[in-house]
Amino acid sequence: MDDIARRQNLDRLDSLATVLDLIRTGRVHSKPEIARETGFGRTVVSMRVSELMDSGLIVEDGLAQSSGGRAPRRLSFSESRALLLVAELGATSISVGVATLTGEIIASRREPSAIADGPDVVLTRVETLFDDLVAANPGEYGEIWGIGIGVPGPVEYRSGRPVSPPIMPGWDAYPIRERLESRYGAPVWVDNDVNLMALGEHRAGIADGADNLVFVKIGSGIGAGLISNGRLQRGDQGVAGDVGHIEIEADSSVLCRCGNYGCAEAIAGGSALLQRAREHLAGGGSISGYDGTAASVTLDDLASASQRGDRFARDLFDGSARSVGRLLATLVNIQNPSLVVLGGAVAGSSDSYLAIVKEVVFGRSTALATRDLTIAMSRPSADIALRGAAQMIIEQLFSRDELGHWIDSHSPRALIATAV
Ligand SMILES: [Zn+2]
Repeated sequence: MDDIARRQNLDRLDSLATVLDLIRTGRVHSKPEIARETGFGRTVVSMRVSELMDSGLIVEDGLAQSSGGRAPRRLSFSESRALLLVAELGATSISVGVATLTGEIIASRREPSAIADGPDVVLTRVETLFDDLVAANPGEYGEIWGIGIGVPGPVEYRSGRPVSPPIMPGWDAYPIRERLESRYGAPVWVDNDVNLMALGEHRAGIADGADNLVFVKIGSGIGAGLISNGRLQRGDQGVAGDVGHIEIEADSSVLCRCGNYGCAEAIAGGSALLQRAREHLAGGGSISGYDGTAASVTLDDLASASQRGDRFARDLFDGSARSVGRLLATLVNIQNPSLVVLGGAVAGSSDSYLAIVKEVVFGRSTALATRDLTIAMSRPSADIALRGAAQMIIEQLFSRDELGHWIDSHSPRALIATAV
């Protein structure tokens, strides 16, 4: 391609992605509306609409509203043109689902599964569940256009491989993408679970409409997903938002699993709280309502004790909330979000957790950064990471860069050779 042809092709892809985006998100419904919204000439609009209809991405269904004269044909996105497969691999469970091209989860399944069993055992089960779901939802959907996987550890986003994930023995550098691409003939994207939860909250959860958002998960560990101007921030390698290892206590003697001292996660994460509860019990202390051994105490036991007013349990969670508040105050000053969403078992453990986090954040962040800031709890939903995984696929498939690689062949299968 010479320079002029290349330039023209980029212009074409730009306008194609723009037109698709407008119809896909329901902002326009006819050619005259596209022309008004984009400023493209009638010929360009007609050409792009035909190309999108040829690929089956949009259809004409009836008449749109007329702004005078004959009513134009109504254009709609074919959300059932193909299926997306999504999965969230948790530490102790897996969730899988099938989604439409708009990211709606049509069906999902969840079951216990240990990530520590390694990639072969876990992914074999995920594949079986995918196959069952696809078999149960046949017919109109046709082929699979993309697969999105969330894992509980750091992922190098470009390659889709986990990188030294602390709670995923056997998964370091495992080629999840290559395995699933060769099995399903569809492009695969992998990200960490907290990023997908942030995406899920952004598109479908309580964050609907907030384009500057921080999602913080306080579970066994601590992690965050950052959305800035409507885009998930992955950073250079994919680890943006991995805030659990930010030092929040100088001169701390608490050693983190990463090898440093004073990390947020080592002080305020669920594993750290459990460790302190075990030491407390082993040293002869008691926890209200709990009569098991020190080794078998769980976060649920601590949460129930805290609800009953047990002083030790309550102090653990309140202390965690204050630490998380300090961490968030820093994030709020860096990122200036309009919404912070708290998720994870520790954040949901006590009524006072959210109140304490708010108090610390509003006390420590600058006045301007908190002027329109809302801090809220995530609504517990098994689907949120699955929705996020679907959203990840959609953002990739329909971005200008990726669209250019497959639109002419009418199937994202063409991305497999180019996705590195
Ligand atoms: Zn650490």
